[in-house]
Amino acid sequence: MRDFAYARAGTAESVVGTLADPGTSVIAGGTELLNWFRLGIAAADNVVDIGGLDDLRGIARDGDDLRIGALATLNEIGEHPLVTQAAGALASACLQAASAQIRNRATIGGNVLQRTRCPYFRAEEPLPWPCNKRDPGSGCISLAGRHERQAIFGWTQDCVAVQPSDPAVALAMLDARADVLGPAGPRTIPMREFHLTQREAADAGQPMRETRLEPGELITGYRVPASAEGQAYVKVRERASYEYAIVSAAAAVRLDQNRPDQNRLDQNRPDRNRIAAARVALGSVAQRPWRLTLAEAELPGTPLTREALIPVIERAMADAAPLPQNGFKVTMARNAAVRALLTAGGAS
Ligand SMILES: Cc1cc2nc3c(=O)[nH]c(=O)nc-3n(C[C@H](O)[C@H](O)[C@H](O)COP(=O)(O)OP(=O)(O)OC[C@H]3O[C@@H](n4cnc5c(N)ncnc54)[C@H](O)[C@@H]3O)c2cc1C
Repeated sequence: MRDFAYARAGTAESVVGTLADPGTSVIAGGTELLNWFRLGIAAADNVVDIGGLDDLRGIARDGDDLRIGALATLNEIGEHPLVTQAAGALASACLQAASAQIRNRATIGGNVLQRTRCPYFRAEEPLPWPCNKRDPGSGCISLAGRHERQAIFGWTQDCVAVQPSDPAVALAMLDARADVLGPAGPRTIPMREFHLTQREAADAGQPMRETRLEPGELITGYRVPASAEGQAYVKVRERASYEYAIVSAAAAVRLDQNRPDQNRLDQNRPDRNRIAAARVALGSVAQRPWRLTLAEAELPGTPLTREALIPVIERAMADAAPLPQNGFKVTMARNAAVRALLTAGGAS
């Protein structure tokens, strides 16, 4: 661990100024950054603590949106009544992340910038194997080694890692936007485009780029459209808590029941429980949350039953390209998507 200078930020604008220096890092909760320093994934001469910036705090209704400050912790978001009522998938994703202690510290601004859990990438320096993320041009040992937890969409020969954030999947599914402040002023990034697959990054000529955040930009908060749809976040993992997802799925469903109490399941008339509109995204299957847009186009009119949903999701996942060891993730992700849709619609 190298020494670094520590300073508390006075304003968001002043942070953006200091971030222009590549030797400066922002710290929020520190649950990722300090691990990177320890492992040798990152190093900085100056660390600027943004924890005292009140403008980046808070959760409030703003017109049709929920405005969630970048410094809101995962526990604050998961337990906030506005979020549980109008963005339930996000609340659930936050509460299923990490452990209670980490959720009290981990911010939603830092969460979407967390790096992959690929064990080859997370090794302590000096790295005993090639990893293009750690040492560009050295190769990807995971392709020839273990890759059962890696991507089934959007990977390249350069890297097969996945983005492990739970909240990012819900934010992408809910069409949230990140408010960002940078040297060129404020701008907005749609969360379904915030992360890049390896294929998208390579096509843009920056194979190791992971997000659309530019150097020097600060996330100030998120705008999440408030929704009356039923919502769910399903996380499949090796143990019930304090564990990253193998795969996950976030869904929102509005039922078409032609009656005033729409979106409530009619147990006696299953034929009436048809989907009017639905959104669904997968997590831990690519280096970005994976919206199943083909399924979203096909789901209106589909009965809310497992039998009817499976072929729709399978068609939407037909372009999955699993690696030799992770074909099981295709089936697991399909089942997670179906379960998230059934739960969001009230049928499970
Ligand atoms: C043991 C463990 C288990 C975990 N399990 C899960 C899990 O199951 N699911 C899950 O989703 N996550 C999980 N996490 C990840 C955790 O949620 C993130 O580490 C946390 O949210 C990061 O937020 P932070 O405030 O601590 O970020 P920091 O560590 O402070 O910063 C992380 C990065 O983000 C940058 N950054 C922070 N805030 C901003 C901002 N506002 N604008 C621009 N850049 C910023 C920093 O410069 C740094 O590069 C786990 C973490 C640990 C340590």
